[in-house]
Amino acid sequence: RRSSPAQTEFYQAAEEVLECLRPLFERSPHYLGQGIIERLVEPERQILFRVCWVDDAGKVQVNKGFRVQFNSALGPYKGGLRFHPSVTSGTIKFLGFEQIFKNALTGLPIGGGKGGSDFDPKGRSDVEVMRFCQSFMTELYRHIGPTTDVPAGDIGVGAREIGFLYGQYKRLTGRYEGVLTGKSLDWGGSLGRKEATGYGTVYFAENMLKARGETLEGKTCLVSGAGNVAIYTIEKLHELGAIPVTCSDSRGTLHHASGIDLALLKVLKEDNRVSLEAYLKTHPEASYQPVADYPADGHAVWRIEGDVAFPSATQNELTEADAEALLANGVTCISEGANMPSSTAAVDRFLEAKVAYGPGKAANAGGVATSQLEMAQNSSMAQWPMEKVDVKLKEIMTNIHRQCAETAAEFDDPTNLVLGANIAGFRRVADAMIEQGIV
Ligand code: NDP
Repeated sequence: RRSSPAQTEFYQAAEEVLECLRPLFERSPHYLGQGIIERLVEPERQILFRVCWVDDAGKVQVNKGFRVQFNSALGPYKGGLRFHPSVTSGTIKFLGFEQIFKNALTGLPIGGGKGGSDFDPKGRSDVEVMRFCQSFMTELYRHIGPTTDVPAGDIGVGAREIGFLYGQYKRLTGRYEGVLTGKSLDWGGSLGRKEATGYGTVYFAENMLKARGETLEGKTCLVSGAGNVAIYTIEKLHELGAIPVTCSDSRGTLHHASGIDLALLKVLKEDNRVSLEAYLKTHPEASYQPVADYPADGHAVWRIEGDVAFPSATQNELTEADAEALLANGVTCISEGANMPSSTAAVDRFLEAKVAYGPGKAANAGGVATSQLEMAQNSSMAQWPMEKVDVKLKEIMTNIHRQCAETAAEFDDPTNLVLGANIAGFRRVADAMIEQGIV
């Protein structure tokens, strides 16, 4: 049912899931009853609101705010907030839909939701970002709570934004509680949350490679993005003896054949928020390709030679031509840190080639899983050591991989982790929906 052309990303995500569920419905037709599919593709609630704030020049700015509370069969809505000028209600709907299955795969009690705004934090002063966040939360606070809906960060929402959002929630409600995750360590955050999505994506790749008798050691790795997910993917790859040679941002792609200098990357992106081009001042031996020089049919980062790919920037950043280039260059493993980074045609190429392909909803679930660990620590007023969080994260990623692989094998397509992820996630949500009746 394509009723709105503005929701192309949501239709792309929904079609992939529904296509994968076909063999399940043939074997278990009861899932076609009770309006499960019809209820699953319709959010339980969508909140759209106006966010007005005053910029440093005294001008009134108006942005759109969104929160989609998609499915609460398994627990409180859980999913990040994205601040990026490209955000539309369709973007948030696709991300919320994917989140339902991702959260189900973690095995933890969390439902699916997502939110955000078309606000662009880039180039804004800290005070402007604070004013925007305060205005955003002034509407959002009435819809969220530690047992109802617990937002986190996503593109454009990091520690700074979570801090401003939390401060305003506390001011409005008078409550100091675990209503957001990704908080600072001094006031309710969890050790390991900042690193969790990137680390988890690497652990997922390790699991996929292990199933094929390989390891990451010595492998050349291509990473896109230069934000939270990409940075901690690169960090874990270095730790495991792999060689991450690329990263990218919205302006261009950096290639450093001897391995990305992680400390410098953190200074440029976490501290100074500047373009990757500045990396060349310290490392003139590296190369930088601006977006204007990218191939017309895709992204420069996927045209570089490597063994393993970690798409970690944004949706549809890896085209069919990129997938063909990766396969031609000998890439045998793709672990998605971003949500839906590969186009439908690119995914088809990976599945046909039977390479190890970990879709985002499985491979990047370590972030939301660790957010749930933050919720558990907040509700028991505890703080766990990093080792405990990391052990749990590793276990969760291994379990997700096992579930996806076992489910794929059960449906006679053992290398297809897309099928495995969608069926395993769906079954957990659908069973809960059936048991809870038609609501
Ligand atoms: P950040 O905002 O920290 O970083 C995003 C990175 O991707 C930046 O380098 C940004 O470049 C680049 N980027 C964003 N949009 C575009 C675009 N349209 N074109 C090219 N480059 C772009 O976000 P995260 O690292 O948190 O998120 C990255 C991906 O991972 C997203 O798909 C997100 O949904 C997913 N994800 C994140 C989780 C988390 O815990 N943070 C959890 C699970 C998934 P620039 O700085 O120039 O804008």
